[in-house]
Parts: sequence; C-alpha cells; structure tokens
Amino acid sequence: MIPIPSEENWLREVTEFRRRLHAKPCLSGHEAETVAMISEFLKPWTPFQTTTLVNGTGLACCYRGNRPGKRLLLRADTDALPIQETNSFNHRSETENVSHKCGHDGHTAILAGLAPFLSHGQFAGEVVLLFQPAEEVGKGAAAILADEAFENLKPDLVAGLHNLPGFPRGAVCLRNGVFAAASEGITINLTGLTAHAAYPETGHSPVLAVAQLLTGIEGLKNLTDSPDDFHLVTVIHAQIGKPAFGTAPGDAQISATLRTYDNLAIDALKTRVKNLAFDVSQRHGLQCSVNFTEPFRATESHPDMVKKAALAATRANLEVVHLPSPFRWSEDFGQFTERWPGVFVGLGAGTNHAALHNPDYDFPDELLIHGMNFWKEFIGETLDQPTK
Ligand SMILES: [Zn+2]
Ligand SMILES: [Zn+2]
Repeated sequence: MIPIPSEENWLREVTEFRRRLHAKPCLSGHEAETVAMISEFLKPWTPFQTTTLVNGTGLACCYRGNRPGKRLLLRADTDALPIQETNSFNHRSETENVSHKCGHDGHTAILAGLAPFLSHGQFAGEVVLLFQPAEEVGKGAAAILADEAFENLKPDLVAGLHNLPGFPRGAVCLRNGVFAAASEGITINLTGLTAHAAYPETGHSPVLAVAQLLTGIEGLKNLTDSPDDFHLVTVIHAQIGKPAFGTAPGDAQISATLRTYDNLAIDALKTRVKNLAFDVSQRHGLQCSVNFTEPFRATESHPDMVKKAALAATRANLEVVHLPSPFRWSEDFGQFTERWPGVFVGLGAGTNHAALHNPDYDFPDELLIHGMNFWKEFIGETLDQPTK
C-alpha cells in the first residue's frame, strides 16, 4: 500500500489537479474528459470498486473501511458553464465560452483529494465518492439515480458540499431542514389566429390573455422567508407574435421559474400556475399547452447529520455558521436528500469573493485543504471511527 503523502506535497498535487480541471471544463452532460482526468488522478489510490455512470459522464469510487458499517456517499458536481472566462491566469479555461464558474472543479478536487486517506481504510463501513455530471441543468442527480449501475451503490447516508462566496473563507455553513429551494421552470404556450394588423378582429390575438396571465402569475408570489409559505414565481421570458408591423399576433409564450422551500408546495404551485394558464386561455378562446422543465427538489439536511457536520467542522478548526433561512437557489442534491438522510454543506469562499457564475469567478485554492479536512473529520463522525 502506498503511504499517505505529507500534507504539503499532497496539497500541491490536489491544487495542480484543480487547476488542470479548471483549464479543461466540460459542459453539463459532456463530462467524459473530466471523468478520465479523475480516473487518472485516482489511479495510485485504487478504490475497492469503480463504477462509471450515465454513459461515462459520471463516476463512483467506493472505498471500503477495515470493519463493517454504513455506506456514506459523498458527492461532488463536475460540470462547467457556458460562460466566457475573463481571467488571464495560467490555468484559465482553454475552451471558448465554457468555464468553471461555479467552483465544481474545486468540489471535484476536494473529493478526489480524499483518496490516499480512504485507500488506507481507517474507518468503518464504506465511502462512495460520487462525481456527478449535469448539476447546473438539474439533470445529473436524477440520471445517476436512474442508472442501473447505481443499484449496487445505494447509500445509507449522503452528503454534498458547495462553495459559497459572500461567507467567511473556510466557514462551514449549515442549516437544519431546508438548505436550498425546490424549483422548476414552466413554459405556457398560447395559440390563437394571426390576422392583418389592420383587421385584428378577424383573428384571435393572445395579447390580453398574456397581460392577464402576467398579472396573475406575479400575484402568486409570497416572499416571506418562512419555509412553509415562501412562493416565488419569476417571469423570465415572454413573447407575443413577431415584430412584423402588418400582422396581429396569433401566438404567445410565457416562461417562468417557480420556487418554494418544500417539495409538496412546489407541486401545489405548479398546479396553480397551470390552472391559471388554462382558465385565462379558455376565457379568451385560445388553445393552451404547458411544459415543465429543469425540476429541482428542495435540498434538506437531517438534524442528526447537521450535528455531525458541525462537530466535524469544529474538529477541523473551521468556523460554523448556522444559516437563519434557506437559500432561494436550487441544488440537484435534493434528489439525494429526498431519499436518504443527508446534509448539504456550504463552504464559505470569502466575503468579497466573486459571485458564482460571474465571468471572473475562480475557485479559491485555499478551500481545498479546508474541504478535505472537513470531509475526513465528517467521515470519522458519521462512520463512528476516529480519523487520527
Ligand atoms: Zn452553478
Ligand atoms: Zn454549483
């Protein structure tokens, strides 16, 4: 067995790996090259079992401890975004209009960085390192869960981590219950009849229906931060006919994003918006169809797992921040926490760090050691075995 490298040497390797990932970003659903880079990096630290998932865009590495116990799944997301990088440092993205602007390169490097420690098996049970594709489009977690090969990897407990600009660097941010909102996109299509703009009464314009629908949809908002009542509907796009001045429009489309802090509440909100669309279109004699897209379940942390994460953070000498309210954004880790007891961990990226998805964002390398130390302690806390 290869001895565990010194912290200094290993951190240098993990940092270089993070920068290599940053230079070679892959868009959601196209992470095969990232998977190949992870496999190469993990080669010396052979897992007990390696499974490729979702057509080679996902990877699970299972490490077995030196005595029986539970199976803990740790997940890192691996995909990049269709954003042009504006940074000029050496490890800047080599791909035009694609870059790691959410820090998934850092999450991946942190998880892969646990391999030497895990390969020595000084813990009970099993740890599955899951490198998940397509988080940004809300499809990856569902695709992993639907993959037959995942049947043999079903965990007892799950945990995920995301860096959080705006919070002190290295702070471990936790919340009992909902951590990040459930959300889903809706597109409403209205169809009437186009006509000459001089004789609009001979056609069937959706203009008034659109006006009513937009007002109605806006009226469904409830921006309290109380998890039970929070409802957000954000109209993100609307279109009526075409900019052709001789034509009265015969069709329209409205898209909106729905958000709640509760999985039952998002289902209810979807029904309300859909019913509103059908009611209004019927009143205006228009045909109506509705499509939903990019569903995210609420990401929820189990209080027992939050307690363990807080203890692990303290052992790793990291500040613990208990978040007063959930985040309004979504995370597809909710697919996992809906099925198994889990925790989602925010790792502060710095109060003045560039925001996620900004073109100048880069994952702070300083977080790599904090993330690795946190996970090591967390594995010890969760699988009931001291890590030192
Ligand atoms: Zn993102
Ligand atoms: Zn992200």
